[in-house]
Amino acid sequence: MAIIVQKYGGSSVADLEKIRRVARKVIARKRQGHELVVVVSAMGRTTDELLDMARELSPEPSRRELDMLLSVGERISMALLSMAIHQEGYEAISLTGSQCGIITTDSHSNARIMDVRPFRVQDELRRGHIVIVAGYQGTSYKREVTTLGRGGSDTTAVALAAALSAQACEIYSDVDGVYSADPRVVVDAKQLAELSYEEMIEMARGGASVLNEQAVAFARDARISLYARSTHMEGSKGTIVRPDGFDERAARAERGLPHMAVSHARDVMVVRAAGEAADAVVERLEEHSPIAFAWEPGASARVLLNAALLAGPDALASELEGMGASVVRSAAISLIGHGVGAVPRWAREAQSVLTREGVVSSAPFCSSARLTWVIPQEDLDRVANVLHGEFVFDA
Ligand code: ASP
Ligand code: MG
Repeated sequence: MAIIVQKYGGSSVADLEKIRRVARKVIARKRQGHELVVVVSAMGRTTDELLDMARELSPEPSRRELDMLLSVGERISMALLSMAIHQEGYEAISLTGSQCGIITTDSHSNARIMDVRPFRVQDELRRGHIVIVAGYQGTSYKREVTTLGRGGSDTTAVALAAALSAQACEIYSDVDGVYSADPRVVVDAKQLAELSYEEMIEMARGGASVLNEQAVAFARDARISLYARSTHMEGSKGTIVRPDGFDERAARAERGLPHMAVSHARDVMVVRAAGEAADAVVERLEEHSPIAFAWEPGASARVLLNAALLAGPDALASELEGMGASVVRSAAISLIGHGVGAVPRWAREAQSVLTREGVVSSAPFCSSARLTWVIPQEDLDRVANVLHGEFVFDA
């Protein structure tokens, strides 16, 4: 029997009625003859509420204790979903990240998965149980509870899918797949039927939260196709993220018309440091994946971090300031597409659009599949719409 890994985001399990609906959806899939592993996020805004509580007690709570606290959110939803499935007459068992053998680094609040030893999951599947897993958490080699960074439940799902050689990994949320820009901001954003891993990683790095970057990197390395779909919209086709090699895309890129998308991060920490502090800052930020960075060893550093992905952005900012860095909050806008940063043309054209629009931007950060500018937060929505209108061609 083929193993299917599904993941349901926080908004899909936000209340008991939604949990019941997810339970029925899981059972329907099981009845098609699959072995099912279901990863859940914390209900609704639970993670944010837990963080607020911690910060009310202490401006810089211990990162170890934060992980203890935040890992509870996912445990609540896993147990409730398991109970809802029992209630429908099916056998399910909930397991924490550590019970599933998810071994991580010891970097609290931002741990990376190093190994997955899913023996317990395999045992339970063999017994015919639906296995419900608490996302976003693991255990370090020091046997401490760790969490994987904001949005980390996607990573749990893909890592398990890889370790179990699953047939598919389905990521369900309240949005119907991946769009050419955030549809809440860009009115003309279009649903993308398929994307390469690289494009999706660049979109996530640029700030798109629909799929977690580390999760997509795992999928790429294990060559697992990811299906991003809407939980409650029946018949939603969603988006497939899978290996590149579409003829149509290659042909477009050759004609100098790469497929482009726009992604943005609304709350970005722009970290600047000079002299020796530059090197220290770069080393300190090594565990985070920055939106972009520029570094001249011993001379200067500029690092853009997506504050929405940090468990404690303010604490990190004051730590960096203590090291001699300056930290300001701004926004970032990116153009994504194969080869957009490989030739100067797209950076030049986009830069002239920004100038025409009177936007005060940073110099572009260029990588082969992404161009990123720091822009004022108040210009973000307008710039996202303008760049989408100018550069995102009809598919
Ligand atoms: N509950 C965690 C968060 O809000 C993890 C996740 O949702 O994937 O970031
Ligand atoms: Mg998410």
